[in-house]
Order: sequence, then structure tokens, then C-alpha cells
Amino acid sequence: MSRLPVETIDEAIGVSTFHEPKARQIREIARRIAVEHGGKLPCRNDVLLSFSGVGPKCANLVLGIGCGEARIGVDVHVHRVTNRWGYVQETTPEKTMAALEEKLPRRYWVEINRLLVPFGKHVCTGKLPRCSTCPVLDMCRQVGVGKHR
Ligand code: SF4
Repeated sequence: MSRLPVETIDEAIGVSTFHEPKARQIREIARRIAVEHGGKLPCRNDVLLSFSGVGPKCANLVLGIGCGEARIGVDVHVHRVTNRWGYVQETTPEKTMAALEEKLPRRYWVEINRLLVPFGKHVCTGKLPRCSTCPVLDMCRQVGVGKHR
């Protein structure tokens, strides 16, 4: 990866949002891993957070999926959905992450991101969530939901 031209990485992740800056960040991270860590990504939160473009959510995804640790990756989708459910009552993804760490059984920590990101993109969307056909409508408190489909 560190030897690939940025354009090649960009082409490979072209369907992602902001793929151009992401391609540059991926290449730079790969270069640092090669030079500073012998080509092996360290399972260390402090190292992961030192990479440009890597925040707490991304670091937790790596530690959870790649390193097998119990971690919760909370992005805008996980934050929005769990707050609409009324499962947590927090104002930022970071606070939601802390609240979920207190409340959510550990066996769900890694998979909650994989489950709720597509759910948040396609069902419990930011604007006009699809509540009328939502499979968890009868379990949801619909906190803060105004107009919906
Ligand atoms: S019922 Fe509406 S607010 Fe609740 S999870 Fe489903 S789509 Fe989201």
C-alpha cells in the first residue's frame, strides 16, 4: 500500500465519500506503518490516534475488528439511532460511546457498528427516517423524531 500511487488507492475507494483525502491519508498511514512499525499495524490506541484522519471511532473499529478487542465504534449513525431508540441520551458520538460502554453488553460492542451503519443510512436516516416500515418501530421511543416516512 505504501508503494502504490495515491491515484491507484483513490480509484479503489472511489465509491467512498471524500475518497481523495482518504486516499492520501491511507497512503501516508501505510508509509508510517512501514517505516515506524516494521510493516505491522500496532494494536495500540495511542499509535492509531497519531495517524492523520484516524479518530476515536476509527481507532476503535481497528482495535475491535482487526485486533479482536472489545471496542465500540460510534459514528454519526450509531449515535443517531441509539439516541432515537432512547437507549442512551447523549449529545455527541463521543458521549454516546462512553454511555454505550456502560450499558451495552460486551458481546455486542464490535458488531453494533456493522449493524447500525447501514440501518442508519437506509432506514433510520438523518432526515425523514422510514419509521412506518421500520422493523423495530414497536421497540423505539422515536426520541427527537419529527417528520418521518
Ligand atoms: S422507528 Fe424510526 S426512529 Fe425508530 S429506529 Fe425505526 S426509523 Fe429510527
